[in-house]
Amino acid sequence: MTHPARTRRGAVTLAALLAVFLLRPAPTTPVEGTPAVRLPILMYHHLLKDASRHNPYTIAPADFAADLDWLLSEGYQPITMAELLRWSRGEGSLPLKPVMITFDDGYESFYEYAWPILRERNCPAVFSVIGREADRYTEQEDHHISYSHCSWPQLQELAASGLVELQNHSYDLHTYEQSGQQGAKRVAGEPVERYQGRLEEDVGRMQRLLRDWCGAEATTFTYPFGSISPEALPVLQEMGFSAALTCRGQVNLLTGDPAELYTLGRFNRPAGKTARQIFEEAGLAGEESGVK
Ligand SMILES: [Zn+2]
Repeated sequence: MTHPARTRRGAVTLAALLAVFLLRPAPTTPVEGTPAVRLPILMYHHLLKDASRHNPYTIAPADFAADLDWLLSEGYQPITMAELLRWSRGEGSLPLKPVMITFDDGYESFYEYAWPILRERNCPAVFSVIGREADRYTEQEDHHISYSHCSWPQLQELAASGLVELQNHSYDLHTYEQSGQQGAKRVAGEPVERYQGRLEEDVGRMQRLLRDWCGAEATTFTYPFGSISPEALPVLQEMGFSAALTCRGQVNLLTGDPAELYTLGRFNRPAGKTARQIFEEAGLAGEESGVK
């Protein structure tokens, strides 16, 4: 038989524990060394209505809207890199079920289709732009939704909306060259110093354009094609980047350590596979929260 006083004390302790558990703030704050947040990031590129154009990087605008609606119905709340960085610095909290919506390459279809869909739902997105393409479509008259990229005035408008966070996808490294150059990766045999100088010049040029045209201070480098060289990281850090987006299809388990923000994984969303299917495959469907 248990001593009555002990039982009472036990009950009080249990009640206190329950109170702490139930009353703890829903948003999460980093706790050193412990996985605190599960952050899935979705990666989109191009939206077109014409189904014959759909492929691993082009989906219907309606499918993007349906993805967002499913995420919102599951309680996911889209966040920006700014919010993630504030949380990582211990200056802010994250929603209970954070998700990040990212669009790469700067297609005009983002301006035309994705932006209104995001605005209707008041959802923010991260838009990683290629500088050379923005320059090209600012200069040339010829625009067509099937291939155009946003011009700088369009990017200006997106940035001013407060809903679209512009990030750096390089000025002109979004190419495969016969020389062996593949995105921002070091070419085999290229001296490290030459590589690092080349990277800094290109990415720095894009930083200045984002600042001058849009007043945007990009915090994140989005690796073209997800091609990475270890020698890139010190350059990006030296330039002041706080994070990098890769194409590794994995959920980010974040502890609050700033270093983990340089290898953020993302799930590409191809035509024919919904966000829901991607989340189910990643073991995320039906999750109560992003907190581990
Ligand atoms: Zn890209």
